[in-house]
Amino acid sequence: MRLTVLGTSASTPSKERNLSAIMLNFEGLNYLFDCPEGTQRQLMKAKSSYMKIHAIFLSHFHGDHILGLPGLLATMSMHQRDYPLFVFGPKGVKEKVQKALEISLLKVNFEIKAIEVKEGKIFEEEKFFVECFKLNHEIPCYGFVFKEKDSLGQFQREKALKLGIPEGPLWSQLHKGIKVKVGKKTFKPEDVIDVSKKKTGKKISFVFDTLANNSYINKIKDSDVLFHESTFLEKLKDRAKETMHSTAKDASKIAAKAKVKKLVLFHFSPRHKDTEKFDIEAREFFGNVVAAKDLEEIEL
Ligand SMILES: [Zn+2]
Ligand SMILES: [Zn+2]
Repeated sequence: MRLTVLGTSASTPSKERNLSAIMLNFEGLNYLFDCPEGTQRQLMKAKSSYMKIHAIFLSHFHGDHILGLPGLLATMSMHQRDYPLFVFGPKGVKEKVQKALEISLLKVNFEIKAIEVKEGKIFEEEKFFVECFKLNHEIPCYGFVFKEKDSLGQFQREKALKLGIPEGPLWSQLHKGIKVKVGKKTFKPEDVIDVSKKKTGKKISFVFDTLANNSYINKIKDSDVLFHESTFLEKLKDRAKETMHSTAKDASKIAAKAKVKKLVLFHFSPRHKDTEKFDIEAREFFGNVVAAKDLEEIEL
């Protein structure tokens, strides 16, 4: 798994920083979290393929989070994408995708599956799932958890065949930790799975625009990496409240309460030129923190 911070600015891009978005690469496919203006060029600079984007997750519809969508869809279409793209977002996402196509005068030749999210599990594949949860912002806004599924251990196919369990659906049930019956015999997952090789899947959380509070702590608990917006420094904490955003200190307190392993701050107001100060203010409450720089990568 590789995480690439495509941008770190809030509300407008600056000379130094692009608007905020994060790309997650998992087993060869890309998952994009928010799609602001400038996303395409950042993807190119990060040598991350937009053609490999399997799904886009939009936290909310403020312009600094979605205005890259028309251009990205246009490029995908021009380059003959011919497989479906998922776009998840709050209520109204179908209309937003439709508008994006209208703006770019596009007839796309691939299917766009626009899906309105509700709290809970929104997307599931064989090896991971994505959950979303409500944040506290001026308009409906969601955070996301990307969770790699836990692995019970290594499946021993030789052993399974020896025991007379035929390859197919029974194997995948055992994989999922379910007992199976073959004739009169019942087999437990441990009979064919080497549990010494079990692995807990990685958990990555994304908290976009929000007034920081306890409402979402349970959802992001024990994350390996938490990306948390951090629009302002402490001296502008009143402004943070007014506009329903977080400060670096707010984000670090959340990280400590949720017992995450690593905190990555992003979404910095262009009023703050020097992002090192975010690092310093956050460190007071949570040690393993970094104020992200554009195009920074995290390998897990
Ligand atoms: Zn924003
Ligand atoms: Zn916003």
